Amino acid sequence: MARVYNFSAGPAVLPEPVLKRAQKELVEYGNAGMSVMEMSHRGKDFMAIAEKAEADLRELMGIPSNYKVLFLQGGASQQFSAVPLNLAAPGQKVDYINTGSWSKKAVAEAKRYTSVRDAGTTDGTNVPTQAELDLDPEAAYVHYTPNETIQGLAFDYIPDTGDVPLVADMSSTILSQPIDVSRYGVIYAGAQKNIGPAGLTVVIVREDLVGKAREETPVLLDWKTQVDADSMYNTPPTYAWYLAGLVFEWLKDLGGLSGMAEINRRKAEKLYAAIDDSGIYSNPVAPHVRSWMNVPFLLNNPDLDNLFLEEAAKQGLSTLKGHRSVGGMRASIYNAMPEEGVDALIDFMADFERRRG
Ligand code: PMP
Repeated sequence: MARVYNFSAGPAVLPEPVLKRAQKELVEYGNAGMSVMEMSHRGKDFMAIAEKAEADLRELMGIPSNYKVLFLQGGASQQFSAVPLNLAAPGQKVDYINTGSWSKKAVAEAKRYTSVRDAGTTDGTNVPTQAELDLDPEAAYVHYTPNETIQGLAFDYIPDTGDVPLVADMSSTILSQPIDVSRYGVIYAGAQKNIGPAGLTVVIVREDLVGKAREETPVLLDWKTQVDADSMYNTPPTYAWYLAGLVFEWLKDLGGLSGMAEINRRKAEKLYAAIDDSGIYSNPVAPHVRSWMNVPFLLNNPDLDNLFLEEAAKQGLSTLKGHRSVGGMRASIYNAMPEEGVDALIDFMADFERRRG
């Protein structure tokens, strides 16, 4: 059985060299005489793995020294709760920009803890412009989703929020291109797209925003607990952390995030061009805010959806079914999706159109 091109939105394809290296090191890591999975998180071998992963992530993203980097569990969804608990007093106003399904989930959770203002809402095919944002200078923070994984919608700018900290759910776009971390108060991301396997959540938080959690915050959700314990207040997801470290090394070997961004732009542009130039596929998102990572598309005849998926799977093009809430197809083309995988998908789509369109 050969490896397929896996277009899953997450857990998603991992770089093959990373998997091969993990395979080589699986049973015995270095001279440790045991697998990374079997090591104490406080032993010197794992501590070295953990420190190198953080150093490499800092280098890749250019994370300034006044930011803490946390390697946690609970997924991005747990940060939907942690963000208001850490940053807003009960009832304090917070601003949320709402551009799609994941923004909505973040809003719903924040509403349980504080007073959420709508700083700008769209229908999932565009983002509000800076001028359209309705920001309250008194808000405790502004939250947004730079890349909506389900809608395939990505901000083409970083919102300017003045002195109000900007919080970003970067789950499906982190590491896909260089960003200016200093524009953010908090960045968080579930790992299972561009970082590594599921089970790990990365939180990057500016120092001055740590230590403000309200009193009833569960101890594991308080960023200060985790900052003070170097993400080891309790047992961290050690193997996922190690694999993330291998992904960071792979990215560094490829020349870092600007090289990756060039490849990502090329992959996305050719796939959108194939959709726009076709007679049977369409994508509703405004061209300037189309995601480089998640490319949803509809067939003009939805009765052909299942046939499309079956025939694609036979060509080794896997997991193209769109999210159940929007239907159609979705090709997630994260960093680890090789350009050849996108080329193979484009060829298949053209062939399918010739035969069935
Ligand atoms: N935010 C975004 C943008 C996502 O894409 C996802 C997962 N698809 C989540 C949050 C939820 O992440 P998790 O499953 O890690 O809680």
